[in-house]
Amino acid sequence: MIVIMKTHTPSAEIQNIIQECRNWNLTPETIESNNKVVIGLVGDTAGLNIEKIQQLSPFVEQVLRVKHPFKRASLEFRNGEYSEVAVPTPNGLITFGQNHPLVIVAGPCSVENEEMIVETAQVVKAAGTSFIRGGAYKPRTSPYAFQGHGESALHLLAKAREATGLGIITEVMDTADLEKVAEIADVVQIGARNMQNFPLLKKAGATGKPILLKRGLSATIEEWLMAAEYILASGNPNVILCERGIRSFDQKYTRNILDLSVIPVLRKLTHLPIMIDPSHATGYSEYVPTMAKASVASGTDSLMIEVHPNPKKALSDGPQSLTPVAFVELMQEIAPLAQYFGRGYKSAFSNSGRSDSDRPERTLKLG
Ligand code: PEP
Ligand code: MN
Repeated sequence: MIVIMKTHTPSAEIQNIIQECRNWNLTPETIESNNKVVIGLVGDTAGLNIEKIQQLSPFVEQVLRVKHPFKRASLEFRNGEYSEVAVPTPNGLITFGQNHPLVIVAGPCSVENEEMIVETAQVVKAAGTSFIRGGAYKPRTSPYAFQGHGESALHLLAKAREATGLGIITEVMDTADLEKVAEIADVVQIGARNMQNFPLLKKAGATGKPILLKRGLSATIEEWLMAAEYILASGNPNVILCERGIRSFDQKYTRNILDLSVIPVLRKLTHLPIMIDPSHATGYSEYVPTMAKASVASGTDSLMIEVHPNPKKALSDGPQSLTPVAFVELMQEIAPLAQYFGRGYKSAFSNSGRSDSDRPERTLKLG
């Protein structure tokens, strides 16, 4: 349930409503949306009468029920205002969100050694990337496959950040590693296989770090948003949703099925920013550029692309990794496309600015 207050409501009135709602065993959360204070009420509101809330104050403008099972994640909970996730990096504040430039995240599947991660970071930075990605802890189907270098890889990521100023996105698989990962990562990734690892979601949320939540291999959109709800309910509002392909009946020619329709669907359901990962979705580097461009045209806020200096020798996900040359080419193609859709980003190939203040106005609104 949400309570929308009139503009210029005195704060004492808001406090009064909050106190009353607490007395009814509800958890009120206040946000500012479109110049109005909105009080979101979480808890058992089924028996609560709308008139009863309206009568609390003459400054109550409207009381609405949130019809979805995900409450804090729903667009209604923020009265239709999309949220942003702003991440401080050495290169400045990078914001994921609908009214901000496209954010590019790129790097290898796994951090293999210092030279490769630092060099990859330098290449992707020059092409307009804001974050280096790379796994230290890898979720592999086979227990005999390379599992990642663990903690030492986290330190190599930190070296890549030092060399380039890029932010770090890396995955945590186990609550036991959470502290170490959260200490170094600027954004903590929860991978597809752990999307419904509820203890991990709660504890990762509680670190206060921005969380990148990948869609589970066979997760419905509602299950995905309920997983995001766990993080939001832990008091962490900084969640980015990443579509990375789902299972279907025909996966002979692609690794997964990229569900691009999630972009307009999520725009209707949730305020959270969206990232698309065409690398894990398609599984083949030759398909990545097409789907990356389609994602930009569909209005994604961000892209995650796997890049490896020598994909043939990669310790994981080589077939889907772009070479540095192919990545630079893709960024050259994406720059004007992003600009056309009002999502210019700092690129070696366009004049559009990285900073939010000098971003071009969106010319076409999607979703
Ligand atoms: C990854 O990003 O390297 C990864 C393992 O992704 P996913 O969880 O989407 O499979
Ligand atoms: Mn990978």
